[in-house]
Parts: sequence; structure tokens; C-alpha cells
Amino acid sequence: MKHKQNISLKPYPTVNSQLVIEDMQASTFWSLQDMSWMKIALKLARQGAERGEVPVGAILVHNQQIIGQGFNEPIGRHDATAHAEIVALREACARLKNYRLPLQTTLYVTLEPCTMCIGALIHARVDRLVYAASEPRAGMVGSQINLPMQPFYNHAIEVHNGLCREHSSQMLKTFFRERRKAAKRKTI
Ligand SMILES: [Zn+2]
Repeated sequence: MKHKQNISLKPYPTVNSQLVIEDMQASTFWSLQDMSWMKIALKLARQGAERGEVPVGAILVHNQQIIGQGFNEPIGRHDATAHAEIVALREACARLKNYRLPLQTTLYVTLEPCTMCIGALIHARVDRLVYAASEPRAGMVGSQINLPMQPFYNHAIEVHNGLCREHSSQMLKTFFRERRKAAKRKTI
């Protein structure tokens, strides 16, 4: 985890930044609850970045309560499956002592989920997915393929995206820019 120690992270935009305000004003679609939940997911993403992990945060909400949360943490956990969504799902399932989540559970995540995470959301019976930024390379909710819309699954997920998109994108861009700089410094 050499790169983890050598990254000098610049301060990330806070959740109260102008970016978030602009994001929120750009849409009248989202409820105040949606906005406040995504702000928490963004805070979690930032916690990941502070540990040298790609900044992605996720929370699971049921009955206006957080039942699971997590940030992307494969390096720290030595676990390739420790994406934010999976960490949140595991926490919720362990807490509720059930491998399936209750009806009307929403996952808020700051980045479009990958193949593995969409599979896990379907298995856990998450009802609604709200994600912030798109992931053009490996996003499986429209960027490459729209997995949740495939007819062969026996569970459908309602999907919305774009809430706090700009804020999440900026956080990811800053992270990768700093990581490239750190890698360059090491080779000089
Ligand atoms: Zn994933």
C-alpha cells in the first residue's frame, strides 16, 4: 500500500459546497430526504479518499433510517469485494439478521454500480437505487449495459441518477489527479 502513504490529498469540497448547491438547484426531481441521504453518502466517500481508497460512499435507507453504510475499502480490508455498496449491504443484512432487505429499501451511492454490486443489490432485494455520477468504463446501469433492466432477473430495481453528480465527479477527479501526481513523484 505504498501509494496510500504517498498521496497528499487536497481538501475535497465539503458537502455544503457550492457544487452541491448547484447540483441540487439543477433538479426539482429530488426530495429533501434524497438530498440529505446523498450528502451522507458523499461524506462517506470522502472518508474513503482520506484513507487512500477511490472515493465512493453508499448508504441503505429504510423507513427514513440508515440501516447500512460504507465506503469503498478494498485496499484497507484486503478484499476485492469491499465496494461501498457491498459494505453497506453486509452491514444492513447483519444488523437485520436477514440476507434479504425489507421492502422499500433505497441504496444511495455516489457512483454508478459495477457488475458485482448490481448483482448483490438484486440478491438483497433493494427496491430503489439512487446514484450520483456515472461510471463510463464499468458502470452497469446504463453506461455499458443496463443490468437492472434485463428481463431474466426476478427482481426489478427502480433507478434514478444524477443527484449530486457534479460533486461526486469532482471528488473522483481530484482523487485520481492527486494519485497520478504522487505516482509521478515516485518515478522522478
Ligand atoms: Zn461495485
